[in-house]
Amino acid sequence: MPKGKVAIVTGASRGIGRSIALALAANGARIVAVDVSLEGTEAMVAEIREKGGEAVAVQGNVTVSADVERMIDSAVESFGRVDILVNNAGITRDALLLRMKDEEWDAVLNVNLKGAFLCSRAAAKVMSKQRYGRIINIASVVGQMGNSGQANYCASKAGLMGLTKSNARELARRNVTVNAVAPGFIATDMTEALPEKVKQELLVQIPLERLGTADDIANAVLFLASEQSGYITGQVIGVNGGMYM
Ligand code: NAP
Repeated sequence: MPKGKVAIVTGASRGIGRSIALALAANGARIVAVDVSLEGTEAMVAEIREKGGEAVAVQGNVTVSADVERMIDSAVESFGRVDILVNNAGITRDALLLRMKDEEWDAVLNVNLKGAFLCSRAAAKVMSKQRYGRIINIASVVGQMGNSGQANYCASKAGLMGLTKSNARELARRNVTVNAVAPGFIATDMTEALPEKVKQELLVQIPLERLGTADDIANAVLFLASEQSGYITGQVIGVNGGMYM
């Protein structure tokens, strides 16, 4: 378990990122929680501290290089190192291909893919010097399967899996592993927005017959962040109830 390790989690104020930060903290990691909204992030950090853990909140946008640098500086100033980076921040701007606006494409690719690139590059500098690191990218089952109405989102998540493998090859010699978790449909604000009919159609595609929980994803991240996963790199672990095999 990641006891004493320093973990940066992006998009940590709610949903899957929040569960990941809380799970890492519960297992002894010191947390740097990053999000555009400071209020939710500070509340999450307060929750960790109340339970005796260590955490700091950083307001930052993963698409802005200066914010990303500040996030790394904050981790090093507060805790002296960066052991784990979880690239979790993500957005959707769904539309059918023929109606998708340039801005919708750009916004999703920027946050989901460029954001992960900027954070990985910045964290890898510190991790390479330390000769230790774990980078975990939160992709999606739809990056593997495709999904109608999500050309931008699916492309960003498929790209993130490519980034995972490329970075895994480059950083392995520095003892930095890079893996992805590809969640299926998880009950969070992101999926809450879906119409009931769409949710029912999704459920019949899931052999385990339920939506996943944010904790299901946090458990996989916990494993990839731990010492026990040291010989795993460049992999995409599906946590999807069997929806895609
Ligand atoms: P969520 O509830 O919408 O939370 C996303 C978080 O990311 C929010 O806290 C959001 O901040 C933050 N964020 C958005 N843009 C950001 C930026 N530019 N910089 C920093 N933080 C930013 O989403 P979720 O369902 O927990 O999803 C988390 C990750 O899992 C995403 O990458 C998503 O694509 C992936 N995923 C989710 C599902 C699912 O079914 N839910 C399935 C597969 C993959 P605000 O609170 O300020 O908006």
